[in-house]
Amino acid sequence: MELRRNPTRAVQIGSISIGSGNPIAVQSMTATHTQNIDATVAQIEDLFASGADVIRVAVDSTKDAEALREIRQQTKANLVVDLQENYRLAEVVAPFVDKIRYNPGHLYHHEREKPWQEKVKYLARIALEHDCAIRVGVNCGSVDPAKKEQFDPADSITPMLESAWEHCDLLDSLGFFRYCVSLKDSDPQKVIEGNKRFAEKRPEIPLHLGVTEAGMPPDGIVKTRIAFEQLISQGIGDTIRVSLTVPNSRKSEEIVAGKKILTDIASGRVRSFVDYGLKTLNIISCPSCSRVENEAFIELAQQVKEMTAYAENHAVTIAVMGCRVNGPGETDDADLGLWCGPNFVNLKKGPRELGAFPYDAILPRLKHELDLVIAEKSNVGK
Ligand code: SF4
Repeated sequence: MELRRNPTRAVQIGSISIGSGNPIAVQSMTATHTQNIDATVAQIEDLFASGADVIRVAVDSTKDAEALREIRQQTKANLVVDLQENYRLAEVVAPFVDKIRYNPGHLYHHEREKPWQEKVKYLARIALEHDCAIRVGVNCGSVDPAKKEQFDPADSITPMLESAWEHCDLLDSLGFFRYCVSLKDSDPQKVIEGNKRFAEKRPEIPLHLGVTEAGMPPDGIVKTRIAFEQLISQGIGDTIRVSLTVPNSRKSEEIVAGKKILTDIASGRVRSFVDYGLKTLNIISCPSCSRVENEAFIELAQQVKEMTAYAENHAVTIAVMGCRVNGPGETDDADLGLWCGPNFVNLKKGPRELGAFPYDAILPRLKHELDLVIAEKSNVGK
């Protein structure tokens, strides 16, 4: 399906652009020691070959920065430098990268007497001089302490947002618009809330989505997927990273997972209930996993699609889920929901259970219920 997208600004990062309707770019980050040039280049090339649009490399010392000079010579990938605490390294590495990521919560570590505004001005100047984009990367674990103390300690999202917004205001006032923002947390629900609130206020600023410390696959992918489903279906997100705890030799799994999540969202294969805001029939089915209890689920999802084609112009959502773990909960918000057990398919109308039916009896019953839902909705409209 055609996913709606927020009307974000275009931001060029090396050979690609994000925002403004461009395809959602998939990113990853190297996990090698940056000074180990051979290992870092090998990992960048592995990620690049897997389809990474942008690859981030951490730099925290002049030796790292020198290594980056050499790394740049050996790859064509779009590179981002992740400035850690030493923001002054920007001027050393900017000639070798396409984007500079800084964390507002790290700017106070060096030159404490200097206002953060001066440091951002410096970063914007360096980015401009070296044709780089910027990412303002706010992270739940390192929010600017000055912002944090202004808010209730139980509210971790507002300080992140306020920090991001004030940096955006400053960059805008400097006439620097080639930037995106990220608001990362390890809790997918906070990632969803933070990004939704940000996009509501500043829908024109491209967002880089990610769940930090998501963990190992498959759980880390599931957590990330849930956040991305809820945001990307609403038009939020211009570039993504799936952060996984995997050995260096498997780092490209981040790219594979990111691309799969994007394809699944665009095809309605989602694990959580997703409101795409469509005025037409919306069939969502889970992407399936090891929890599927009857392989017939896969075929059933396809049959549901074919059988319901006649209702394509009706704004009805049907969710088809593969197991009892997520099926009952994730079908609650759909007009009609099916979740598959070993021998029966459970049919629901909203949160109400209509019964369990054998696999070969479910389609006629679903059609009957779909006709009722269509009739009910058209009566409401009268
Ligand atoms: S609904 Fe069940 S089978 Fe489908 S992806 Fe979720 S956990 Fe796996």
